[in-house]
Amino acid sequence: MTEIDKQNKNYYHQQYLDLVSSLGEKRPSLFLHACCGPCLTYPLSILLDHFDVTVGFFNPNIQPKEEYDKRLDTLKQFLEAYSKKRNLPIPLVVNEEDFLAYENAFKERWNDKEGGKMCLACHAYRMSLAYEYAASHSFDYFTTVMTVSCKKPSRELNEIAFQLEKKYPSCHYLYSDFKKENGQLKGIQIAKEYSLYRQDYCGCLPSLKEREEYKRKKQAELLG
Ligand code: SF4
Repeated sequence: MTEIDKQNKNYYHQQYLDLVSSLGEKRPSLFLHACCGPCLTYPLSILLDHFDVTVGFFNPNIQPKEEYDKRLDTLKQFLEAYSKKRNLPIPLVVNEEDFLAYENAFKERWNDKEGGKMCLACHAYRMSLAYEYAASHSFDYFTTVMTVSCKKPSRELNEIAFQLEKKYPSCHYLYSDFKKENGQLKGIQIAKEYSLYRQDYCGCLPSLKEREEYKRKKQAELLG
């Protein structure tokens, strides 16, 4: 592949389609990093057609702890119901989160806006934790659901994982761009169908603060 190939908007999705169509009857094991239940819905629904999926919740960025627990409970609620619907076991691995290590790694960056360099480093941090788990537990493939979100850049996420794959060559990275084919919209529909809690901020305390400021501003505008 060349850098020019990667400029193509459909490049990562096409890589995904080519890979799954080459699997035939094989069902390799896949470790799927999930940031929350709603983002998991659509990627899981298509991946289960081709892989034996284990979901990994590796998200020390989510604050405060009550919110972390709520998102994890939501994800468990979905997995339990969806596993019954598909009549398939879908194991879940929950990371032993080191919230303090995450905070220390990012405290210098707290003035960045959501979507800036801090976010790319945050994605890399979580994917690195999950990829290491996948490789050390002999999974055939690793990927993350995060490319489903329109707020998260698919190319950068794929490039982060492409670099991680060099560190863990025994576990292949499954290229993906789950936004394609209306992935985000389909995910929202599934989340509604299962009555899942949908958070309104990304996860870290600065993103919560940004969201609260936005809501305050909107409220003030409404009140004139
Ligand atoms: S806004 Fe989201 S992606 Fe960015 S640093 Fe915070 S939790 Fe991580």
